[in-house]
Amino acid sequence: MACIQAIASVTQYWVLVWQRLEGKVALITGGASGIGEATVRLFIKQGAKVCIADIQDELGEQILKSLGSGTHARFIHCDVSKEDDISKAVDFTVETFGTIDIMVNNAGIIGNMFAGIKEADLQELKKVFEINVDGVFLGMKHAARVMIPRGKGSIISTASLAGIVGGQGPIGYTGSKHAVVGLTKSMASELGKHGIRVNCLSPAAVPSGLFLPLFPAWLRKAAVLKISFAVIGYYANLKGVHLEANDVAEAMLFLASDEARSVSGLNLTVDGGQTVVNNPLR
Ligand code: NAD
Repeated sequence: MACIQAIASVTQYWVLVWQRLEGKVALITGGASGIGEATVRLFIKQGAKVCIADIQDELGEQILKSLGSGTHARFIHCDVSKEDDISKAVDFTVETFGTIDIMVNNAGIIGNMFAGIKEADLQELKKVFEINVDGVFLGMKHAARVMIPRGKGSIISTASLAGIVGGQGPIGYTGSKHAVVGLTKSMASELGKHGIRVNCLSPAAVPSGLFLPLFPAWLRKAAVLKISFAVIGYYANLKGVHLEANDVAEAMLFLASDEARSVSGLNLTVDGGQTVVNNPLR
């Protein structure tokens, strides 16, 4: 009996200390804010060594500071639309932590939310594509050069519901996120033979840096905004679920972890069921 109890308590202890990304190295673009920041924090908590690549140096440094000096986290300035920057971020991660097991292509912008086709501007569309599409392509390309020789790795990109249906964002954003889903499928089919899994995520609206600037200052106050997103969630998701950046980070964790070893080419919706709900109020 005592022996069974001892085994049970050791098992319990092991479950408590087990970290799902123990020993793994992740490079996360757009990791200085919103979904990226939540992913950085969760990956660190789960035992990963993380490199944050972002254009917001100050925010990146603040995150490192808040994580504490003993943490295996670094920041590198990186504009994902520039190949040289992405290449350097990949090399920096390998030099610092030895390799890259997980590449998260998360940096993205939305462009002018309210421009219809009459107001839509080609230069702005190009800018959105440079970051949302070129950035993901470059992240995949340079992560693959490290992962192919190792015969393993997980590449995850943040798409959007705007990568599945229309009406979830402006034209350029919607086009760019459809492209992210396409790149994911194409790369999953090519890289599978090298043991590399390639997936993307499609979140619904999350109160983070992408959306907050669209709201007037008085509405940005946390409590009021939470209520607004809860109302949106009520009409969109049946059960009133409203997403937080951390919900998306948890889905990232699954795709990054070995538990998802047989999952590749997937576009995982993180939307509380929004895309499948037949709700006339949507
Ligand atoms: P956010 O603005 O909080 O974070 C985006 C991060 O990307 C920022 O830290 C920003 O500095 C960085 N970034 C922007 N341009 C960059 C560049 N050229 N190079 C490097 N970094 C750059 O926004 P978020 O909501 O966390 O968005 C993260 C991702 O999730 C984006 O790809 C976005 O399209 C996608 N997404 C967001 C939502 C949402 O509702 N917030 C929904 C669906 C998909």
